[in-house]
Amino acid sequence: MPHAVAHDRVESVALSSVTLPLPTGISDAKVFTGRQRPMTEVALLFAEIRTEAGLEGVGFSYAKRAGGPAQFAHAREVAPDLVGEDPNDIGRLWTKLVWAGASVGRSGAATQALAAFDVALWDLKAKRAGLPLAKLLGAHRDSVRCYDTSGGFLHESIGQVKDNATRTLASGVGGVKIKVGLPDPAEDLRRVAAVRAHLGDGVPLMVDANQQWDRPTALRVGRALEEFDLVWIEEPLDAHDTRGHAELTRALTTAVASGEMLTSVAEHYELIRAGAVDVLQPDAPRVGGITQFLRLAALADHHHLQLAPHFAMEIHVHLAAAYPREPWVEHFDWLHPLFDERLEISGGRMHLSDRPGLGITLSGQARAWTAETAVVDSPR
Ligand SMILES: [Mg+2]
Repeated sequence: MPHAVAHDRVESVALSSVTLPLPTGISDAKVFTGRQRPMTEVALLFAEIRTEAGLEGVGFSYAKRAGGPAQFAHAREVAPDLVGEDPNDIGRLWTKLVWAGASVGRSGAATQALAAFDVALWDLKAKRAGLPLAKLLGAHRDSVRCYDTSGGFLHESIGQVKDNATRTLASGVGGVKIKVGLPDPAEDLRRVAAVRAHLGDGVPLMVDANQQWDRPTALRVGRALEEFDLVWIEEPLDAHDTRGHAELTRALTTAVASGEMLTSVAEHYELIRAGAVDVLQPDAPRVGGITQFLRLAALADHHHLQLAPHFAMEIHVHLAAAYPREPWVEHFDWLHPLFDERLEISGGRMHLSDRPGLGITLSGQARAWTAETAVVDSPR
């Protein structure tokens, strides 16, 4: 039932399933423990929402290794519930869509599918206001510290990782994250020592174990890593080991970061409430979109946490700019081919553009990599 005082109405929703190939098989610690294969592609779900007033919003969600087809199928099934609705009522629409799929839960693939709609509705609302999304939300800054992840994976040698770091810093990115969690922790320590020596003191350096240490290993390696002045140690433990994270956070001087694998505000609230991390790393597409991200960002700020959103920098630069405490944005160059625009990066920071909304346009390459589309223009 359309809202009685609607100021505009959703006319159609176009969905696209895009498969982004990666140039080389990507390996983190999960590959070395045999839990996952090297990653060769990223599946993206794009939602383009058009209104009767002639506005358009674009949003996306994504899945790595598995889940892309499930997100697309769920989105196609619930998209008719958006048609005829006022696109300004974003919170109400998120709730409507989550109830439409209530039997498949409020986290995981179902709400990740809703994230593509939610992000598109925020993009549309900011475009209607003629503002970059960060300005619509209320920005605390016009640029955000950024660090690179693309160049620090475990399938590359120490020499390659050092070369990548040199290139990254020369491009204006402010910090470097490298992967750890190899079967031999001594090799991790050698890689971290080599990169720290290469960068010199003072250059922000992070490590990421991708959940592959057990509690004793995380404590032992975490202590050995203290001397390298790391900005944080990321995902030292299983993402759902809240108590283990809380104990480690208290035991180490180095900050502990986690949260990218969590797919709801409720899961994040467990970490926040337990004092389990120093740095929270939510991912807007994974938690169900921007509406949900804003809820947990408010909780994180209330608990004096640092924020470093995971992946999808095209969305997160706006959300990080709107966080009260100086955050970090994760720089990944992987999604570049999908968009016509580039984020400006200089002086260690990623800069907001003047473009309204998210400031992204789907490229011809994104269209060429589109495997499946669906246009929904009538309610069910
Ligand atoms: Mg990570």
